[in-house]
Amino acid sequence: MLHLMESLPAGSRILDLGAGGGSFPGAKPGLCLVRLDLQAPAAGCSGSYVRADAARMPFAPASFDLIISNHSLEHFCHLEETVREIGRVMKPGGALYVAVPDATTLTDRIYRWMGRGGGHLNPFRTPDEVVGLIERLTGLPHRATRELYSSLSFLNAHNFVGRPQKKAILFACGNERFLAVFTWILRWWDQRFGTRLSRYGWSFYFGGWGEPESPEPWVNVCVRCGSGHPEALLRKVGGIQKAVGVFQTYRCPTCGGFNLLF
Ligand SMILES: [Zn+2]
Repeated sequence: MLHLMESLPAGSRILDLGAGGGSFPGAKPGLCLVRLDLQAPAAGCSGSYVRADAARMPFAPASFDLIISNHSLEHFCHLEETVREIGRVMKPGGALYVAVPDATTLTDRIYRWMGRGGGHLNPFRTPDEVVGLIERLTGLPHRATRELYSSLSFLNAHNFVGRPQKKAILFACGNERFLAVFTWILRWWDQRFGTRLSRYGWSFYFGGWGEPESPEPWVNVCVRCGSGHPEALLRKVGGIQKAVGVFQTYRCPTCGGFNLLF
């Protein structure tokens, strides 16, 4: 997603759709960032903020060069109308980035169990289902799919608002080091036995310009902020620290969270 924003020329317009408090920190200077959500913006949210229904966006046709739906499609009440609106407000030649959870995964099941549904109204079970829906309703061609790995960051005590639920006891009350070890074990189990316990969902690229990002998955996903990082980047920025037994640890370059390298 970030590489798409980096490649945009000055003056380009980006829509963060279903932004909540902002689904990413911000955009480089010279780009026009508009965030849309039904809820009021969080304090300190960068960019322009529009409170509106995604199924009836208050924008002229062909308004945006890049539209980002980062973990939001699963929440929309009127999914088909919203996807049609994406096609309407997208400029010809524009790009769409979509990330959604796979409803069949352990992560999504835990999330919905912890959050009494977690607001997930649209369960996606295969990548073809998402690609078919978006191509049919927007006319944007599918370019690439990347598999996303989970970090269970929603269980991390750093991200709790208010008192943790009693259910959190099962996950050491969101202790970061426990989650780092737990997710590492899930990755190892998947690799050893061919299961999908540590998968989260998928990201998709539609329309757009140039070559899409490599579909290679990033297995190192921060247990605090959920950012995925390629191992080469972690080595380049000096984030990888030391070996603890069989584990190598790293500090997330985005948030400083404690992680185990896989
Ligand atoms: Zn992080």
